[in-house]
Parts: sequence; structure tokens; C-alpha cells
Amino acid sequence: MNGTLTFLGTGTSMGVPTIGCPCSVCTSSNPRDRRLRPSVMIRWNEIQPESGVAPRHRAVVIDTGPDFREQALRTGLAHVDAVFYTHGHVDHILGLDDLRPLSFIAHRAGGLIPLYASPHTAEILERVYDYTFSPNATYATRARVEIRPLADRTTIHGVEFLRIPVLHGDMEVAGFRFGNAAYLTDVSEIPESSFELLEGVETLVLPALRHKPHPSHATVAQAVGWAERIGARQTFLTHIAHELGHDETNSMLPESVRMAWDGLELPVTLRRAGEAA
Ligand SMILES: [Zn+2]
Ligand SMILES: [Zn+2]
Ligand SMILES: [Zn+2]
Repeated sequence: MNGTLTFLGTGTSMGVPTIGCPCSVCTSSNPRDRRLRPSVMIRWNEIQPESGVAPRHRAVVIDTGPDFREQALRTGLAHVDAVFYTHGHVDHILGLDDLRPLSFIAHRAGGLIPLYASPHTAEILERVYDYTFSPNATYATRARVEIRPLADRTTIHGVEFLRIPVLHGDMEVAGFRFGNAAYLTDVSEIPESSFELLEGVETLVLPALRHKPHPSHATVAQAVGWAERIGARQTFLTHIAHELGHDETNSMLPESVRMAWDGLELPVTLRRAGEAA
């Protein structure tokens, strides 16, 4: 089934430009050097079994960072079917409250927006947003959302999302595979068993913070090494710090690896649950 992968943000936790920084990337006039906090959206049109019924638009978001409001407005996001969380760092969760208007729409239609999260991430969400998730929450305009445990395999309106466990320093975080594409962010190590889950991926997203090593993020060289091993037709880099200029870094990368940018849209082939690979 045809779908679209859209980059809502491709920057690292501080965003690019970084506040107060006079460097050449932070002061660049290239719009691709402006990166909001990392997030992607996957969209598809659901085929209706009854003829004559207009297809329904489906949208899944991975992470709602501090820029989620701006990203949703930019892309005209008017409906979310589910959110997947990679982990509980604030650059990935601080936009949760901006799901409120979308959740009111969902609630009027009779549901809560499901938020899929690991036990560790769920605990952080419940702590940070206790006024939303506490059993005693009475805050009238709280988000109409519910946390659901993230399983190895989750089906959203018939479309399958696989969890890809990866390491972010000492912490296990979730990457996701959907059909012929995969999105991994905040990775310092990919376990062997997860390389197996990535076999056959054609469109791959990997994080690359900068050139200098970091304890919990991949460098450009590490990401290129993983990209070559996984062998996707095309790999895009995200979670990028201000050390990496878009054009300059692209010119050093192998042909099959490119810097992603905010707003980039890629066609993907999604997999229906139960469909042969
Ligand atoms: Zn991050
Ligand atoms: Zn800078
Ligand atoms: Zn992180």
C-alpha cells in the first residue's frame, strides 16, 4: 500500500539554529540548515471496502517534540490516528500537550488518541503530564489520549509498525519499521537482532549528530557504516546538530546517503497486517 513519510523535524535536541550561536550553519541562509526537533509522520489513504466511499486519510506521528505545534501547522496536520514514542527525552515528548486540539476532534468522534510507549517512556510521560494521565486528573482541557504498551508489532488501521530496539547510550529506545521503510533516531548502537529486522528496507532513516564522537549519538561515519551494512536503496540522516552544514555534508556522503531536511517527503510502501512480506 502506498504511503508517504514526511520529516517534520531533522534537528538535534537544541534545534538548528542553536540559540545564541554565531556559527556558519546557525547563520546560514539555506532553508535546509534550519532544523526543528526530530519527528516524522507517516500518512496513507485507507481503501474503503464499500465502493463510492471516499478514502480516509490516516496519519501516524513518531514523537511529538517541543516544535510539534509548528510542525503540525506547517504540514496542515488535522488528524492523528496514533503516536509512537521512541523514548522519553524532552526533544521527543514536549509537544504532547499540543495534541490537545487534535485529540478533541478524535474525542468528538468517540475515541482517544493512542500513544504507544515502552514502560520506561510511559512512566516519564505519566510523570511529566500527570495532569493528563493521573487517575484523578480533572483538568478540563487535558489531552484526550491514552498510553498503550508498545509491542513488537502494532497495527494501526490495518498497517503494520514493527518495533526495532536500538541503544541510545545505556538506554534502549525504539526505532520503527513500516513496510519498506524504517526510522531510527537517537542511536549509538544497533544490536545484531535489530539488523535482522531491517533486512530488505529500501528507505532508511538514521541519526547522525556530528563528526565528533558522542556517548549516546551516532557520528556521520557511524551512520554511513550502518547504512552500507543495511544496504537500503536510500538512507537519510536526521537528528543533526549545527556542526553539519546541509550542502557541505551532502558533498562528502556516498551517493545513497543524503541529509534529510524539514518538510522532505518520501514515498514508502506500507505493509498491511497479515500480508506476505
Ligand atoms: Zn533526541
Ligand atoms: Zn551554530
Ligand atoms: Zn534522546
